[in-house]
Amino acid sequence: MRVSWTSERTSERTPERSSDRFSGGAVRHLTFRLDPEDGITGHCADGQPLKMATNSCRVELPREPREVHPDLEALAAWTVVAPWTRRAVVFDRPISAELAGAIHDGWGIEAGPVGAPPRSGRRLAISYSGGADSVAAAAMLPDAPFVHFQRVSHPRVPNRWTHYRSDVLAKLAARTGRELTVVRSDLEFTLAEPRPGYPEHHAVAAGALLMADELDLGGLAFGYELGSRWLGGDRYLLRYTPDNPMWAPHGAWGRAFAAAGVHIVLPVGGVSEAVTMRLALDSPLKECVRWCLRGVDGPCGTCGKCLYKELIQAAVERRPLRTAVGPDRPVARKWSEPPPYGGQEMIEYGCARIPGIEDTVFAKAAEFLGATEASTAWLDRCYPPAIEEIPEPWRATVRDFVAAEVGFMNDDEARRVETWGLS
Ligand SMILES: [Zn+2]
Repeated sequence: MRVSWTSERTSERTPERSSDRFSGGAVRHLTFRLDPEDGITGHCADGQPLKMATNSCRVELPREPREVHPDLEALAAWTVVAPWTRRAVVFDRPISAELAGAIHDGWGIEAGPVGAPPRSGRRLAISYSGGADSVAAAAMLPDAPFVHFQRVSHPRVPNRWTHYRSDVLAKLAARTGRELTVVRSDLEFTLAEPRPGYPEHHAVAAGALLMADELDLGGLAFGYELGSRWLGGDRYLLRYTPDNPMWAPHGAWGRAFAAAGVHIVLPVGGVSEAVTMRLALDSPLKECVRWCLRGVDGPCGTCGKCLYKELIQAAVERRPLRTAVGPDRPVARKWSEPPPYGGQEMIEYGCARIPGIEDTVFAKAAEFLGATEASTAWLDRCYPPAIEEIPEPWRATVRDFVAAEVGFMNDDEARRVETWGLS
C-alpha cells in the first residue's frame, strides 16, 4: 500500500447544498495505491468484511495547522487503509520508529520509511458525536475541547445516504458552547460494503489526528462505553473482551495511537449505556444530545437506533416505552427472535425496568431473557479496571467524577462483566 497526502488551501468543489459549503481552512487529499498483494476486500479490526469503493478521500480542516507530525498523517491514513493492506505500507514522509513498530506488532505489516522523532502532546480532546455516550464523556471532562467529524459527499461516489443529516449534528455540536473543531470528510465513501462508513472505527479520528499538533493533543477521548469496550458490543457481541483490538490500550489500535502521541482515552469505558444516558440527561448539554442521524428537528423516532435508545431512556426514567414502532416494522423484528442481541446487556436492563414491557415490541425478548432488576443491577455501576486503563494525566478526573456520580462495581458485579457471554 502506498499512501500520499496533498494539501490545498481553498477548494473549487461545487457543493450539493449550501450547508456543504466550506469557507477557508485547509483541505488534505489522501490517495492510496494498492500493491499487487493488496485487495479491495479486507477486514475491519472487529472482523467485519469490507469492500473498497474508491482510493481517495479528503479531510477539510477549519484552518491550516501550524504543523502536522508525519506520524499523525500516517496514522490518519492508516485508519482508512488498514483493512486493505496485506504486507507493507509506504507513507510519503518518514514516520517514527515507534509508530512503525506499533504497526508491525499490531498488524504484521512493514511500515515506513522510518526517520522521524517520536511525537507527544499535552491536551485531551473529545471526539464528539453528539450522542448520549459522548455527552456523558463531556460531562466528565468539562474543560476538554470537542473535535467533531462531519460527513460530506464524495465527488466520485454517489451518496445514497442523503437522509443522514450530518449538518444537523454539526450545528448541535456548535450549540454546546465548547471549544469546537469541526472537520469534514468524505472518507466514509471509500467503503462500498457493507455501506459507507468508517473503514476502521478509528477513522472518525482522522481529522483530530491532523489537528493534533495544532491543538497540542496528547489524548483523544471517545464515547465507547462498557458494552463496546468490555462486552464485545456492536458487530462483535456477547463476549468479554479485555484484549479488544480496537479499544484496549494494549491492543493494536491503542498502541498505534499511543505511538503517535495521541492516547486513546475511554472516560465512559467502565459504565453502561444506562449510565451514559442518565449522565447525558442530567448534563447541561442535555438539549444538544442527538443519537439519531435522520431527524432534523429531533430524533426520527422510527429507526432502529431510536427504538434502542428509547428503551434505555424509558428504563432510566422508569416510565412506559414511548414509540410509534409496531411489531411489524423491520427494525422491530429482531426483538421477537431469540438472543443473542447486539447490546444485549441493555436489552436486559430495559426489559427488567420498563413498566408494561409485555405490551411492547420487546415482549418476546423480555420473555427470552428473563432479566430482573437484581440481575441487571451491575449495569448501574462502573467496572473498576476501566478507570485503571485511562492514561495517568486524566485518570483522577474521571475517577473522582465516577466515584461521586456513579459508584463502582463490587467483586460480584465485576464478575458479571468478566463472565459475559459464558453462560
Ligand atoms: Zn431515528
